[in-house]
Amino acid sequence: MCDRAYGTLALGVLLGWTCAAAPAPTHADILRGEYGPYRANNDLLFYHLDIRVDPEKKFIGGKNTIRFKMLKDGTRIQLDLHEALQVDKILLGSTALQYQRDSGAVFVDFPETLRAGRVYTIDFYYSGNPVETGRFGGIAFRQDPSGHPWINTACEGIGASLWWPNKDQWRDEVENMRISVAIPNGLVDVSNGQFMGKTDLGDGYTRWDWRVHYPINNYDVSLNIGNYLHFADRLGDLPLDFYALPEDLEKARKQFAQAKGMLEAFQHYFGGYPFQKDGYKLIEAPYAGMEHQSAVTYGNHFANGYLERDWTGVGISPRFDFIIVHESAHEWFGNSVTAADQSDMWIHEAWATYLECLYVEYMWGREDGLKYTNGYKSKVANAQPIIAPRGVNATPPQDMYFKGALFLNTLRSVVDDDRRWWALLRGYYQRFKYRNIMTEDVVEYFNRKTGINLTPVFDQYLRHSALPTLELTFDDAKGTVSYRWKADEPGFAMPVRVGGKDHWQVVRPTTTTWQSMESPLSKDQFQVATDLYYVNVARN
Ligand SMILES: [Zn+2]
Repeated sequence: MCDRAYGTLALGVLLGWTCAAAPAPTHADILRGEYGPYRANNDLLFYHLDIRVDPEKKFIGGKNTIRFKMLKDGTRIQLDLHEALQVDKILLGSTALQYQRDSGAVFVDFPETLRAGRVYTIDFYYSGNPVETGRFGGIAFRQDPSGHPWINTACEGIGASLWWPNKDQWRDEVENMRISVAIPNGLVDVSNGQFMGKTDLGDGYTRWDWRVHYPINNYDVSLNIGNYLHFADRLGDLPLDFYALPEDLEKARKQFAQAKGMLEAFQHYFGGYPFQKDGYKLIEAPYAGMEHQSAVTYGNHFANGYLERDWTGVGISPRFDFIIVHESAHEWFGNSVTAADQSDMWIHEAWATYLECLYVEYMWGREDGLKYTNGYKSKVANAQPIIAPRGVNATPPQDMYFKGALFLNTLRSVVDDDRRWWALLRGYYQRFKYRNIMTEDVVEYFNRKTGINLTPVFDQYLRHSALPTLELTFDDAKGTVSYRWKADEPGFAMPVRVGGKDHWQVVRPTTTTWQSMESPLSKDQFQVATDLYYVNVARN
């Protein structure tokens, strides 16, 4: 996602939140964030979320059929459901199971030991009035400008268990999923996956059925219930489906045409769209946008830039629709390649932000790509490490977006060979698509494929707050420049280009020893390629 964090950005800058230390995790945070024994003892296979939504009563009810394989013998598993919602019953076949609730967790107990290697299916029935919370409401029962119900979910961070029961963590995903949503006749539900059809239930409600053919993280599962009109297109054999309110249809036809160029750009760099069987959908929503898998939501005013602003402030953002590009980039990074813990969410956000930069480069060339990328420097705080504490449901700071993208641009300069860089990017995506990974997997991949020990570089940018500083000392009499890195990682020895723009020289400073080079350039003339490497420079 981008939006929750961006939502706090403006306020955060005003209020100075970016420097605030994270509060200690609560018991509830640990229950949500930890991959505890009653989560680790099983592997999710399948969900069928089958619900009825009453817009008038703001009420939701139904069941989630959960299929899982036991990895260890056990009699208990952990699922999650927000305290505001009621557990009606949990069945194994016809046997009602005992359960124990603890804040948002639901510990389900089985009368007999579940055996490692065996597959079990339970039906988790629930109902109630879900709580609207967070900037986008998590689940929001609203009305469109014409007065029709407009109900949308956007629950990343808060967690999908806000509105449906599931194993609410990031490490484990179902292999595929069905979503059935009964809503009053005349409304449309757009959820994730392939549309399978709708059935009139004869009681004033119609059930909309969707099938997700791929692994999906919980927060991506979405409802978009409204008075939508649909139009369709194709990119090769990929179905493109678009949904907008009637009053916005013409604007949507014009603006959503950008989806094709975006898909072409990302397919160029990374390979085919990840969710071919599910198709690509773009759906109007009453908030800025969200990367819901194969069902990206859009609320960017049908205008270029981000909420009609020049997002990186250098004149390039007004050429394209930020939300279409950023949220759809998550189809590759976030939805296909997924972090296994929210702590490592840069795997989603740094990459999606970097993909904006690649989109600009694909459309308008390298120079504009660099300009757009470096425009992000003004948004970086360097106040907290990009990687947050693990296992406690911690949300990393906003630097995971902007500093994260600037770091990936820096990594390209370290590789210093674009043909190799493109191969690395594509290889990285192909290696980890449809998987849930941690930073260690990323670092191991880049170390192995480049043959360079990049661990101190990754660690400096991701695990420390401060940027590395290139310290330069000039001796005019001798015509020399001495240099070394000041960094938190003692092993930080990143090569960097220095000298003059038309004749860069690569130097390899370390943190331990001063090295010198001869240079005819004075202190004022001597440059460091700070558009290519995101570093500080200190001159003495
Ligand atoms: Zn995002």
